[in-house]
Amino acid sequence: MSTTPKDHFIDEALRKRKDQHRFRELTSYQPKGTTEVLDDREELVNFSGNDYLGLSKHPKVINRAQDFTEQYGSGATASRLISGTYTIHNKLEQKIAHTFGWEAALVFNSGFQANSTIISTLANRHSLILADKLSHNSLLNGSLSSRASFRRFAHNDTADLESQLSRAVDKDYDRIIVITESLFSMDGDRSDLEAIAKLCKKYDAWLFVDDAHAVGVWGTNGLGLTHGVSGIDLVLGTCGKAFGAFGAFLLCSSKMRDYLINFCDGFIYTTALPPAVIGAVEAGLDLIPDLSERRNRLYTNIKRMKKGIRRAGFQVGNTESQIIPIMVGGEEQTLELATALEDAGFLATAIRPPTVPKGSARIRITLSSAHTKEQIDQFLTTLDQLNNE
Ligand SMILES: *Cc1c(COP(=O)(O)O)cnc(C)c1O
Repeated sequence: MSTTPKDHFIDEALRKRKDQHRFRELTSYQPKGTTEVLDDREELVNFSGNDYLGLSKHPKVINRAQDFTEQYGSGATASRLISGTYTIHNKLEQKIAHTFGWEAALVFNSGFQANSTIISTLANRHSLILADKLSHNSLLNGSLSSRASFRRFAHNDTADLESQLSRAVDKDYDRIIVITESLFSMDGDRSDLEAIAKLCKKYDAWLFVDDAHAVGVWGTNGLGLTHGVSGIDLVLGTCGKAFGAFGAFLLCSSKMRDYLINFCDGFIYTTALPPAVIGAVEAGLDLIPDLSERRNRLYTNIKRMKKGIRRAGFQVGNTESQIIPIMVGGEEQTLELATALEDAGFLATAIRPPTVPKGSARIRITLSSAHTKEQIDQFLTTLDQLNNE
């Protein structure tokens, strides 16, 4: 028997993280209003949340969550296939499908759970998955656990995707599944969905698009960047971001919905979402198509913020959205900038490898329609002072 203590590997791994300045810790905050949070010292303007339309504090959303809890209880008390499908679950799925203009919708407990389990239900070891290089970890997880052959195409590079597709069609794969995001979570840039959908049609491949950051915010009536693009087979939307609630939904065909209800482990073997969450999501869904005023405010905020960050001397990459990276590069410098911003009253978190590629550490700003012009201007003044003092 070895004499090393059994938790030695944990010490090793944590020490390595600390040496690399990559050690992560949880910090707790108390929300105060829609865009402010309190930490243990001070009040901060939160530029790191995903409450893009401020719906988490919307009275109608909160009320329906409370109503549903009072009427139906605090938990769904069973999984969906046992007795956890309440009328409100069914009604919500029909309403989602109808609003987004799809044949069917299926609700999942989170976007992570949906992605990691849907993909592994679609693919098997005879399949091929081609995923954009910057795809979210949950998509990667699902791909790897499916045991399918897995390759990544260069980020937003449809030529690379086509070359991989054309090489794959002669092989013996039972199916090819292409995975991308509509709006990438770390860079805020967009994929060319029309072009990708065309390629998938040409090579008879399935197309799965993660629309997590776009639903509520972009597309006609906030119905996402996938809305109106033909040739997409599956769309994943999340409710923890613009919906201000929790959970996720898949837009698909009725046949696909039946298939997943029968075979998707992450749908079958878990307790259904609680009534409060179903209520909040339903209220958000009622509101979202009519929130163009909030969306326009958000678009104005994005313009102002991007322009100001550039003026302060930073690059923002190819962002075309409410996710704006302030590119710094080094991990230590990025942490220092995040700390300095926090000292000045702004929560703007540092994103470091391995979440993003080495050498591309950044401060990641996410904007909400609820941010005021003054909050943005104060942030930009601080950023400018910090970079040019
Ligand atoms: C946030 C996010 C998810 C995960 O969704 P959760 O509901 O938070 O688990 C999945 N995909 C992308 C692209 C995301 O940004």
